Amino acid sequence: MLFCSIPAPEKRCQKCGTCVRTCKENAIFQAPGKYPIFISDFCSGCGACWTVCPNKAIKPKGEEIGQVYLNEIRNPKSEIPNKSQIPNPKFQTFWLVTGIAKAGLEETGPVVTKVKEFALNLAKRFKADYILFDTAAGTHCPVISALMDCDLAYAVTEPTPMGAYDLNLILNLCKKLKVKTKIILNQADLGDKRKVEKTARSFKMKVEKEIPYSKEIVQAYSKGQLLSTLLKYTN
Ligand code: SF4
Ligand code: SF4
Repeated sequence: MLFCSIPAPEKRCQKCGTCVRTCKENAIFQAPGKYPIFISDFCSGCGACWTVCPNKAIKPKGEEIGQVYLNEIRNPKSEIPNKSQIPNPKFQTFWLVTGIAKAGLEETGPVVTKVKEFALNLAKRFKADYILFDTAAGTHCPVISALMDCDLAYAVTEPTPMGAYDLNLILNLCKKLKVKTKIILNQADLGDKRKVEKTARSFKMKVEKEIPYSKEIVQAYSKGQLLSTLLKYTN
């Protein structure tokens, strides 16, 4: 179960409206002369309102926002451990951590943040070499939550005008977050890649890797296989 801190206003509120003006999610509503009302569905749990409140009238309270799942994907070539050895990271290939938002939740950024926290703790426990975050497409809150504090981001795009437009947005976001970024062009042979290359140049970057459209890749993907199993695409 995942929990997130959301604001719970207390009696000492002086109706100053500072929290309303601070909240970027429009999660606080205040009618003239009335106490503020918090709309938890819009709240990202960022904590800005309880930080700025001059009367310490807002306290965070835990609310269920979703669930986290931990899946073990074992390397079939590794030694099979006996029961007492599980879970021994020596015998694993990957730990896959996923999160599901509670039905009807408007703001899913906190779910990503909590799943990421869980994955980071797991990685520390297992002394993992790498941790990979796969985000949704776009530049909205869940993507920002996933990118925060990453060492490197791969911006995966396609050779279309929309691909170039979205690439521009994500490269701008990574620049603001100071996350080093590399560009991967998917289905590189299907469209016109000049717009994507132009966008890359405007950030003094280049397309690092092109992945062609391939029925073989689609079939491998549908069987849950990694691209690295198709050696000719991974050099
Ligand atoms: S900032 Fe604090 S005191 Fe001001 S309206 Fe919000 S809860 Fe009330
Ligand atoms: S925690 Fe952040 S998003 Fe939620 S009400 Fe406060 S300022 Fe708005």
